[in-house]
Amino acid sequence: MPATPPKTPKISSVKAAPTPVIQKGAPVLRQIAKSVPAKAIRSAKLKRIIERMQRVIAEQDDAVAVAAPQIGEPWRIFVVAGKVFLPDYAELDADQLRERQTAGLIPPDAVYINPEIVKLSRQKQTLLEGCLSVRWLYGNVERAQKATVKALDEHGKPFTRGASGLLAQIFQHETDHLNGILFIDLASDLREEPPQDDSTT
Ligand SMILES: [Zn+2]
Repeated sequence: MPATPPKTPKISSVKAAPTPVIQKGAPVLRQIAKSVPAKAIRSAKLKRIIERMQRVIAEQDDAVAVAAPQIGEPWRIFVVAGKVFLPDYAELDADQLRERQTAGLIPPDAVYINPEIVKLSRQKQTLLEGCLSVRWLYGNVERAQKATVKALDEHGKPFTRGASGLLAQIFQHETDHLNGILFIDLASDLREEPPQDDSTT
């Protein structure tokens, strides 16, 4: 999921081809993703999948999370960008985020394997949402204000995390991906907002 609105125009200095993100229309985005078997969790294959997901987050300035089907892997995994866990993330612009990155102050990305939403608040919030797989549409989606997820980390260790606001929104958006649901299925007022920049690369 991308941050909305994007923090700054996208000006990438990365010359290598970015990790492709599967775009809507691809069947993998509409499948129910498979649970990761316990024996696969610490395998080299899974490690590579997680690394590719982390690369998407690193390459796309506005990425706050990504689900495995978005890189063509039909497994129940999503990764949340470490920057989202900064207590003041909402107030930081892209330059400040870069400074934090350089200073090594960004928490590690969080890996959620076989995630399950175990609790949703009755209280709702309507938030602007977009998707790395649905460029460049944004729309309003009603989500539970709080969500609790149970999952395994990359070492197979179970954990439970409750969240509100952006992180709760991410939990719901990414879990939907694992069930073949895209935010455009739920959104109202869909509109296209391509990046405002002149780097036509
Ligand atoms: Zn998405």
